[in-house]
Amino acid sequence: MLKVKPPHGYPPEEGRYVRGNDYSPVAVCVILDTFDFAIPPELNELVMSGIDSGAALSGMLQTENTGMERMICNIVANPNIRYIVLCGRESTGHLPGQSLLALKQNGVDEGKQIVGSKAPTPYLYNVPMELIDRFNQQIVSIINLLCKPGEKDTKAPGLDPKVIEEAVRSCYQETPAVFRDYTLYDMGAYPEPAICHKIVSKLTQPEQTIEPGKASIGMGLALHKFLPKTDCKKCGKRTCLAFAIDLAKGKSRLENCPILEQPEFAGDRRALAKLLE
Ligand code: SF4
Repeated sequence: MLKVKPPHGYPPEEGRYVRGNDYSPVAVCVILDTFDFAIPPELNELVMSGIDSGAALSGMLQTENTGMERMICNIVANPNIRYIVLCGRESTGHLPGQSLLALKQNGVDEGKQIVGSKAPTPYLYNVPMELIDRFNQQIVSIINLLCKPGEKDTKAPGLDPKVIEEAVRSCYQETPAVFRDYTLYDMGAYPEPAICHKIVSKLTQPEQTIEPGKASIGMGLALHKFLPKTDCKKCGKRTCLAFAIDLAKGKSRLENCPILEQPEFAGDRRALAKLLE
């Protein structure tokens, strides 16, 4: 069975995930349905159960755009990963779980909008189309255990660590194993080389460069690309776009967005700081 050593630099994107067995055929994606700093302990437990049971990567997905872009980059950098176990409970408003399923089912249109996503901003602007296509080809199945928004019952399949462990183990069986509605086995690595792509590298491209200090809508739009796009209002503005335009005009500072302090957004924060230099 084909297995490959992931390239130097894998996984290319930072985030709230743990790296496990590089040769495992499965990653675990736990939807993070809060924008507070404290991660609910039951979701942390799901991430750890994914790693303990043998996943290659196990982590949180918070947003339907930048979070999904990072996940795509990390998965196509390891061709051994052929399955995603989707669990946790759906996040209302941003619908990252529904968006991930829609991406796998329908792909994106020419504007990189996820076809069929019901999320407000399901755009994958910062990853090349090649990566999106590769992701959809490399991942053969998303094992959907996602719970409804607000689910509290930790015995519900998508919140039960034992069910997550069973799903992960089913993915690396040598012969087909039935897990709920899925027949799973380790089919080996995707037969094309890994693609190790870092999103912030696009900042070096001339067409992405915005004149420093220029207070304009254009600058605001460029900054907006790297904001969390949660519209959570914690910065005092009604939307991330309004905050971006204030940033462009020098009326606000990055420190006013507490969401950017979260580890998942470390790369975006650096990109924003570079644009604002
Ligand atoms: S910019 Fe404002 S609205 Fe957007 S994530 Fe940060 S705090 Fe929330």
